[in-house]
Amino acid sequence: MLTRLDRRTILRAALLSPALAYPVHALVRQDESVASPFSYPIGLPDGLSGDGFLIRHGFTTENTWYLPGYWHTGEDWYAVEGDTAGAAVLAIGEGEVVFAGSEYPGRVVIVRHAEDLYSMYGHLDPTLTVVEGDAVVRGQSLGTVLDRGDDTPNHLHVEVRTFLTTTEVNGDAPRYGFQCGPGCPPGPGYWPIEAPDLPVDQGWLNPTHVINDLALPTPDDGEVPLGEVVVTQSPSADQTSVWSAPEADPGSERIGTLPLDPGTSFPLLAIRTGDPGRATTGAGAYDVWYQIDTPADGPGWVRAVTPSDAETGGDGRPSAVRIDLIPGMGIVTG
Ligand SMILES: [Zn+2]
Repeated sequence: MLTRLDRRTILRAALLSPALAYPVHALVRQDESVASPFSYPIGLPDGLSGDGFLIRHGFTTENTWYLPGYWHTGEDWYAVEGDTAGAAVLAIGEGEVVFAGSEYPGRVVIVRHAEDLYSMYGHLDPTLTVVEGDAVVRGQSLGTVLDRGDDTPNHLHVEVRTFLTTTEVNGDAPRYGFQCGPGCPPGPGYWPIEAPDLPVDQGWLNPTHVINDLALPTPDDGEVPLGEVVVTQSPSADQTSVWSAPEADPGSERIGTLPLDPGTSFPLLAIRTGDPGRATTGAGAYDVWYQIDTPADGPGWVRAVTPSDAETGGDGRPSAVRIDLIPGMGIVTG
């Protein structure tokens, strides 16, 4: 089992190592634009992946109306407007389909991106567009979100994790009596709050952090701009603060205000993402910043995702996350 501190390094190393089945660098720089190896897992027709959606229950948050007392081991993606059923489910990155099946309810697809990096998509319609063994590229359709027909609202459950099966979660000796037990690749989707360890200790990672951490193929090559970011159709507010550095950095100062007008775009200079394996719970742990060139204040840092108390855990802390800005080179859903 990986240690918490090692995971970020291992993510990068895995993607750059010969063990990777599908070289990420094949995606780098096509048609003079920067292609991003990873992007969000769901899309509307003609929209950027992730645009028009929110994370109603984030990673390692408590869903008090569905399963109180448990940490959510993934993200539940919902359409901001209308029903989520039928939305396209998209591979977050290049890889191989290593599992397609189950009854979650709905089908589950698991993609292996690297030796220690898997993405899992749950509650899909039975009509999948991939089968086990398929090679997929970033943004490729895996299927659509299931119309469940039960009391639970339609949504996509997404996990990113270091394992397909692991002994204590879904392998030979599950520690807790979840319905999906031994040898069940989808896994339980939840982990008890009373457990002595957190989901990150078992190998689950914050999906939005992983996606943003790997959104740029060569983040340190010194070439700017790296592309552009676009304000989503449904930002969390009308405007956001511009900072001299990500807010938590020592000496960071607020230097201005950026209107969040849907569809407007800005040159992207850098991305800063919190550790995908950070041992912090609640939606407040989401920490994604973009350095952009703003019209009014020049280069500055803005928060890309915002915790929302539209849903809260039993302790009152936010469980939901709004997406304010998306890398513009994300896949446009056809
Ligand atoms: Zn879920």
